[in-house]
Amino acid sequence: MKELLHRLRSNIDVKGPEDCWNWLGGKKSGYGRISVNGYAENVTRVIYRLVYGSLLVDEVVMHSCDNPSCCNPKHLKAGSRRENAEQRDLRGRREPPIGTKNGRALVDEEFVRKVRLEYLEGFQGGITYRKLANRYQVKLALIANIVNRRTWKHIQ
Ligand SMILES: [Zn+2]
Repeated sequence: MKELLHRLRSNIDVKGPEDCWNWLGGKKSGYGRISVNGYAENVTRVIYRLVYGSLLVDEVVMHSCDNPSCCNPKHLKAGSRRENAEQRDLRGRREPPIGTKNGRALVDEEFVRKVRLEYLEGFQGGITYRKLANRYQVKLALIANIVNRRTWKHIQ
């Protein structure tokens, strides 16, 4: 099974930074769906977590562009499903904070997400592991491991 990032990358029609990036894979009611660890999830939810970190359990991912199939992280924003008092009680509960506390951190979570996003975004522009390694002055293997999720697997 192809790794998540590769599956995302090959199913997103990546355009310019401000354009809509349409999902080319399977959809349900217009929204892209992708299987993550055996569970079908909304693509935008997966991308939001990948790029911006966690989502609150009561948050939904919305499109500023009103295009349900758009995957451009810049067009995604999180919003609360309901704004009542009960919902506010849930505010502290985040989806599994895909954490940093493993002691072997050469790099931090932010870096991992940044590298994966840049690889995803740069795919059609011919980005390579080598270019990213040069950009960040790190070893090629480090980039390859991050992108292929051989390390930092817990960060989606
Ligand atoms: Zn859009």
